[in-house]
Amino acid sequence: MQTTIPLLHDNHNHVALYAAFSACVDISKASAAEALAILRALPRERLTVVRGWKSFELPLDASALRELPPILLINFSLHGFVVSDEGIPFVERVVPEVALRRNDQAWCEANVPAIFAAYCGLTGIDERRLRAYIDALVPLGIGSSDEMTVPTKEAVDICTSSTFSDRIRPWVSPALYEELDTPRRARLSGIKLYLDGAVGARSAAIAGPWIGAGKAMFTYSDAELVTILERIGAYGTGVSMHAIGELAIEQALACVTEAVRRGARFDAVRLEHVQFIDKAQASRARDLGATLSMQPNFSSDSKDYVDRLSGEYLRRNNPFRMLIDEVGYAPGADLIFGSDGMPDGIAYAATESLFPAYPSQRLSLEELVAGYGPARGVAGAVTLDVDERAGRVTVAGSAITAPAPRRL
Ligand SMILES: [Zn+2]
Repeated sequence: MQTTIPLLHDNHNHVALYAAFSACVDISKASAAEALAILRALPRERLTVVRGWKSFELPLDASALRELPPILLINFSLHGFVVSDEGIPFVERVVPEVALRRNDQAWCEANVPAIFAAYCGLTGIDERRLRAYIDALVPLGIGSSDEMTVPTKEAVDICTSSTFSDRIRPWVSPALYEELDTPRRARLSGIKLYLDGAVGARSAAIAGPWIGAGKAMFTYSDAELVTILERIGAYGTGVSMHAIGELAIEQALACVTEAVRRGARFDAVRLEHVQFIDKAQASRARDLGATLSMQPNFSSDSKDYVDRLSGEYLRRNNPFRMLIDEVGYAPGADLIFGSDGMPDGIAYAATESLFPAYPSQRLSLEELVAGYGPARGVAGAVTLDVDERAGRVTVAGSAITAPAPRRL
């Protein structure tokens, strides 16, 4: 069956980071054996930054890292990386702190924006690459995106001052926000905080237990988070918080409540991912006026991570029916959708919405489209091919029909 939907807005992506990565070797689509062959064949005389490493398919121990050419290998989840022995001197030269702390997982989880900036420093970002990246999303059904962690001040300028700036809604880390002047701050959607790790890195803040290794990682103590939120609340900008596990969601809700009690006021409060949110937390988030920003893509974690998540967590992941039918969230209003670029485009999200692992994760196509919302700064149409038998959605075609009116 074919159906036509509008060109959409991706509410959670990292277009500047991925644009910087576009020059990288990408092994995400290679099998483990192919990926290893690609890595072994890389040049010995310079550092290569490689993306799309699936540590669960291709574990690399110390002896493997000793043999490889100079590489910095970034985890598919963006949380976590390794550097081969020969790569260390190159990384030390450009980003010494990242080189020094590379094996300190707690530091790495607590410093995701700094690491994103380091990746950009190693790979490079410019206007041409960013433009090419966002244009390449159009055939995938996406016309515009939120950029959840613009990595550097230079990238902020590229995102906000270029001809395509109405197609990017930028968020920055608290540290970068502090560095920016008032005109730059005014062009941002707000400040993004990372409260916990990721399922892919076995560091999301779930109560657990994990199957095998795994540890709930927190970036902040409650007291630290309240202080940061009070400061953000005084700026009068938006705040978004990466919180995957129920313990991180709990921290977000408690600390926002406390910061508001102390007088903080936010342009908007967004909770990102919230994959393991329960009904009571969902109600409290709604009472706070928070928006849940979720990724139908990650419903497939319930199939991909049977090696680490118990049956209970596989079932609890992305409980869209509970949020909509029982708590009253409305897609497009207080429940919004994005891809996190894993992968980009609407096809995978539509597949996971219409044909999920669990019925509790199901979204209708109308709900999915409403949750993404129409593209900003550009308008168009996307034709989807819905294959009920194969349980798969693909994009049959897309077209820009008009640039939308420019934002004033
Ligand atoms: Zn993200």
